[in-house]
Amino acid sequence: MKEFIEKMPKVELHMHVEGSMEAETLWELAHHNNYKIEYNSIEELKAAYKFNNLTEFIDMYMLGTRVIKSEQDLYDVCMTYFKKCVEQNIQHTEIHSDIRTYVDYGYPPEFVINALHGAFVDAKENYGITGGFMPCFIRHLGNDVAKEDLDLMLPFKDKILAIGLSAVEVGFPPSLFKDTFAKVHDAGIKVIAHAGEEAPADYIWSAINDINVDRIDHGIRCLDDEKLVEYLVETQLPLTVCPYSNVALKIFDDISQHTLPIMLEKGLNVSIHSDDPAHFNAYLTENIIGIAENTSVSKEGIIQMAKNAIKSSFADNSRKIELLNSLNQYVMDA
Ligand SMILES: [Zn+2]
Repeated sequence: MKEFIEKMPKVELHMHVEGSMEAETLWELAHHNNYKIEYNSIEELKAAYKFNNLTEFIDMYMLGTRVIKSEQDLYDVCMTYFKKCVEQNIQHTEIHSDIRTYVDYGYPPEFVINALHGAFVDAKENYGITGGFMPCFIRHLGNDVAKEDLDLMLPFKDKILAIGLSAVEVGFPPSLFKDTFAKVHDAGIKVIAHAGEEAPADYIWSAINDINVDRIDHGIRCLDDEKLVEYLVETQLPLTVCPYSNVALKIFDDISQHTLPIMLEKGLNVSIHSDDPAHFNAYLTENIIGIAENTSVSKEGIIQMAKNAIKSSFADNSRKIELLNSLNQYVMDA
């Protein structure tokens, strides 16, 4: 089973680019850019990567953004992730980012947009990997900042796959961003949102009713609301579930407690992703293996979720068929 998962063709739909920055990369960039960090050795930094709570995780994630000083740095971080994709046979990936952090550091919006777009162009050419990136509004900064971000991004909309909503969820429901996301839809851009990770099922309803999402990130709290589960099964609105992220942020005590088997059994359109793989110490393959080895999800369930990920991606139809054929062929040969 482990080998089957390792070599299986995969699609990733929920991964934050700076969340793929390993301690080694952070260390190298800090030194390369003469950015003083409080850790005296790589070992110290690695130890700090093993965070104990959300604040420590966010602090380390933000430190990762601060050692990035050029488009080339961000491009390199992204290319390092693509090399991991090659190792794990991830053939299509849609990654989260934000422009706000870098705009606040004094860079123009195209800093992030050019770096990530350039990385995707080269990933396709060098590795055949397709996908794109999805800047997110940082929800705890509020709707006025989101509006500003949108104005900054719209001139580059052809390079953007979707726009999302991320960061501190509780207290910042999607409804606060209703008018801004209406403009995102008007611009013909897909909408995604983190919802129902830490905040209750109401936030998922708000993502559906107030900002008309094309896909939900996490969504695990939907199980608390029977009507919502019914709606999600009926519409097959995708939920991108990130098992080790949920464990690291203490939503479940242990991977064996994860509710993914129940979600799958109910017929929800769920698939597995890695969220912040360097920080949670698990890339896509490790997340899938974690679920396969520690829960009741069967091999058929793993294959079903791999198909769900393809179906739920923003790839065009011909690419989806290619990805599906590649997966079906692999399953037949295995
Ligand atoms: Zn996320």
